[in-house]
Amino acid sequence: MNVADSRRVASALEKMGYTQTRTPDDADLIILNTCVVRQSAEDKAIGRLSSLRPLKTQNPDLVINVMGCLVGIHGNPKFQKRFPWVDVISPPSDPEPLIHFLSERSAKQSTLSKQMTVNAILDGQFTLPQEDQGKLVSAYIPIVYGCSHACTYCIIPSKRGREHSRPYDDVLHEAQNLVQQGVKEITLLGQIVDRYGLDLPGHHSLASLLHGLHQIKDLKRIRFLTSHPNWITDELLDAVVDLPKVCQHIEVPNQAGNDEVLSAMHRGYTAAAYRDLVGKIRDRIPGVSIATDIIVGFPGETEAQFSQTYDLLNDLQMDVAHLARYSPRPGTYAALKLPDNVPDEEKMRRFRLLENLQKEISAEINARLLDTAVSVLFEEESRGRWRGRTPTNKLVFVESLEDLRGQERLVRLNWTGPWSMIGTLAA
Ligand code: SAM
Repeated sequence: MNVADSRRVASALEKMGYTQTRTPDDADLIILNTCVVRQSAEDKAIGRLSSLRPLKTQNPDLVINVMGCLVGIHGNPKFQKRFPWVDVISPPSDPEPLIHFLSERSAKQSTLSKQMTVNAILDGQFTLPQEDQGKLVSAYIPIVYGCSHACTYCIIPSKRGREHSRPYDDVLHEAQNLVQQGVKEITLLGQIVDRYGLDLPGHHSLASLLHGLHQIKDLKRIRFLTSHPNWITDELLDAVVDLPKVCQHIEVPNQAGNDEVLSAMHRGYTAAAYRDLVGKIRDRIPGVSIATDIIVGFPGETEAQFSQTYDLLNDLQMDVAHLARYSPRPGTYAALKLPDNVPDEEKMRRFRLLENLQKEISAEINARLLDTAVSVLFEEESRGRWRGRTPTNKLVFVESLEDLRGQERLVRLNWTGPWSMIGTLAA
């Protein structure tokens, strides 16, 4: 989501005449787009922000903008006091405060009213930032902003606000527009992406959106993330099967294998229901890959409860598991009401156990692809090695002197590991 937001800000700034610099020292304007989903992300953002202070001291005309969840949708009055070298703060996905600030600065030279300038910059077609034009193969399109689910551990609803879907036609136009600028693959984003359309007038759903996007000529692949177990519909699974451009890859977080922990997390399903769902997805979508998210060390998680998460991951043999150690986030129900009583070393031990297990599982699943040919959409090259992904989201590297950017080619795999694979062009 932040990658998509940053690209949007870069595009708006280019319309105002800004160009990108390679280092912060050369910049007239620095935007820090922040994530606070875990304490470690917040610490990183604050560390980075503190490191910008000397630049502002050297050059008081430098504009520093902090955007994203560190600020949140409700603003953050304490923030300005703590970081007086910050000029503008912007909520997640909203470049408007920065554009206002910059327009106000230049308003004296302009005959347009400030609001007209802001509208002219933010409205209209989304043009990729210059450095991406003709080069970006895979782009993100946010389709559901915010989240209204309120998992007890999660800070996102309070930082990104209530769930709201973007209008169907806006998404379609943005995708068409991106494809005209050279993009071949789009990934639709939402905290619960399969709730797309529920708040819109008419009968729009993620499945109907996939059908609409599928008709865009020259668009090769469509992905979506993140799903929630309770909101994946049969209609959606059918769309993945029926529409060849929609990739056979589902990201559906589980979070825990024990029902009491799931209930304390307020996830709204049981471990058995999650297992059934994975079975159903596999039955309906041949060759599908499935990724999950897991949190270890949730308040009160016992060794026995953790073992159930371990067993679930072991039984389900997922392609990928994004693992996290529970991090209490200020203002969440869990942080306020549930003591963070699993010691850090224990969280780390559980994390490592799952990490090792998943490494073996991913290695084994990927090894089955050895000596087979897979379809790869190539995205970029570094030192003679092209990087691309299969429809099932496996990372593949190929050495080639050909310009493979944006090409979908068959690759014969001659090495596979848990996180990536290497092959040669098959044709
Ligand atoms: N909205 C999706 C969902 O929860 O189903 C996923 C998006 S969330 C930004 C990404 C992942 O971060 C979550 O799936 C969860 O595993 C992890 N996460 C969120 N809050 C956390 C916390 N307080 N501590 C540790 N991990 C957390």
